[in-house]
Amino acid sequence: MMKLLMAKKYEGPAIGIDLGTTYSCVAIWQEQNNQAEIIHNEQGNRTTPSLVAFTDTQSLIGDAAKNQAATNPSNTVFDAKRLIGRKYSDSVVQEDVKLWPFQVIAGTDDKPTIVVKYKGEEKYLVPEDISSMVLTNMKEIAEAFLGSPVRNAVITVPAYFNDSQRKATKDAGAIAGLDVMRIINEPTAAGLAYGLQKKSRFDGKRNVFIFDLGGGTFDVSILTIEDDSFQVKATAGDTHLGGEDFDNILVDHFVKEFKRKHKKDISGNPRALRRLRSACEKAKRTLSFATDTTIEVDALFESTDLCSAITRAKFEELNIDLFKKCMETVERCLEDSKMDKSDIDDVVLVGGSSRIPKVQHLLQDFFNGKELCKGINPDEAVAYGAAVQAALLTDGVMNVPNLVLLDVTPLSLGTSVKGDVMSVVVPRNTTIPVKKTQGYITIEDNQSRVLIEVYEGERTRASDNNLLGSFYLTGLTPAPRGSPYDVCFAIDENGILIVSAEERTTDNKNEITITNETDRLSAKEIKRMIQEAENHEVDDMKFKNRVTAMNDLDLYLYKMNKSMKDKCVSSKLPSIVQDKINSAIVKGKSLLDDGQQLETSVFVEFLMELKSIFEPAMAKKSIATRTWGKLKKLI
Ligand code: AMP
Repeated sequence: MMKLLMAKKYEGPAIGIDLGTTYSCVAIWQEQNNQAEIIHNEQGNRTTPSLVAFTDTQSLIGDAAKNQAATNPSNTVFDAKRLIGRKYSDSVVQEDVKLWPFQVIAGTDDKPTIVVKYKGEEKYLVPEDISSMVLTNMKEIAEAFLGSPVRNAVITVPAYFNDSQRKATKDAGAIAGLDVMRIINEPTAAGLAYGLQKKSRFDGKRNVFIFDLGGGTFDVSILTIEDDSFQVKATAGDTHLGGEDFDNILVDHFVKEFKRKHKKDISGNPRALRRLRSACEKAKRTLSFATDTTIEVDALFESTDLCSAITRAKFEELNIDLFKKCMETVERCLEDSKMDKSDIDDVVLVGGSSRIPKVQHLLQDFFNGKELCKGINPDEAVAYGAAVQAALLTDGVMNVPNLVLLDVTPLSLGTSVKGDVMSVVVPRNTTIPVKKTQGYITIEDNQSRVLIEVYEGERTRASDNNLLGSFYLTGLTPAPRGSPYDVCFAIDENGILIVSAEERTTDNKNEITITNETDRLSAKEIKRMIQEAENHEVDDMKFKNRVTAMNDLDLYLYKMNKSMKDKCVSSKLPSIVQDKINSAIVKGKSLLDDGQQLETSVFVEFLMELKSIFEPAMAKKSIATRTWGKLKKLI
């Protein structure tokens, strides 16, 4: 187990930033009060909109940007978190760009690039630029509060963010002039906040379910908290599901209603859409405490007002599919943790959208009526936890010498081995940081290099998973097939992966860091792949059995061939037996060549037949027996 205190190397104030899709929040550990403090912005708000705007004279961030959004929609940029670390051609991005009033184009390497007008000129920005402006704002809020410069920060990301999204977030921090001490998972940070705030009430071990439904992302995690140890047992989520999706559904509903009532289509008008979206978000919030509300937008389009009522029941009906989707994720996380519903002691609500009554009802029903914990502020818990983590990484700030925080990796990681089989090195939900080495062998005589293909996913067939990257381990020492080499997967505290391969007999080594260049998966795809893996379990098992049978046969033929080429062995055999064995070898090889068309049983049965020919022949010759004894050990 890694103790966080051992990793301390930072000096000076360190802040925790929850960089949210719609709102961001910053906090700092206050030693004198022994708790984290949420820092309010200039307007006195404890959360700040994650919005950036450009005008003819200036750039604006946060509340100032939000306040002018309706009058400057095409130059007011939000949702950078939905773009960060993704490709423009990503289907998720393609869906989003249709709804945004600002322009996004494909930039270099298919990177989404936002086009705005700033000081009279066109300006091209990548998502990291937008996020870095939001982070700069959070940094400045903290600096104004502390009265001193701040460099060090812990930034949170959804647990389901992939490597590329994490790296891009880290880059955004660096652009903002921050030294990003660590990237931590949002539900883990919330768990830390919950644990530290409520721990005094705990009696022994406690299993805590964190339900974090924010503006654009959804994450769940199960943590076991015991004394000062916080261990994540499982995590699941969707990096593209949250309050904004509920807003979009409402916007869509009212666009249709406006068309029906007034025969006017506002869908192509960014200003009208922006104003409608704000009104919808407000109505959605109201419906969390009232059973109905009215949406009113003066002169929404061509001087026609929008004035319409909506009930909570209608809102729920419109969004029920998304709410149910959340519950599927809850179920999957629980399954992964191998816990029963009844093992969960606390279900903790985090994220603004966890206030929606229907979401709470579904969750409570799922946990058989268990009372949900609403004791921590859902908008602030993540930043609180990030501030705790920041303090733990800073010298002399927080005196919790034994605090241990262990997080997990969301998808299985491994390499492709002979026959396109996924060889899992790090199973999903393995505690990180982690370093795992797995031994492999060459598959041909005198093989000079091996291709290491790194995949993430749950399917048995490697190519059905997501290829993260590949590299060669070259310059292998000439040797018969079966020569060993090791592949090592190392995932650091930020969830970033490095894969290396090394020949066991020499110090010949090569490695890759999985970088932004590789296409990573969207949460939707991850979910689909896990689902597919479950659906394909039977097929996958069949595939695996066939590959195993083919590999067993191939290896046996190889050994047979080798012993037949050894004159000490073959010369002791009658020529009729030699012929029989040799023709069996030829037949075996041709079976393998036709492999894809044949059933598994063909290989299994033929291997048995081979053994029945070869083993008695070997047993008859004492010298051969000894040689065969050695060979058998190898097989
Ligand atoms: P977060 O990312 O945790 O800041 O959550 C922001 C999201 O929570 C936004 O989509 C908000 O519209 C939503 N939200 C905040 N308060 C409420 C509420 N009372 N009812 C429903 N949604 C809310």
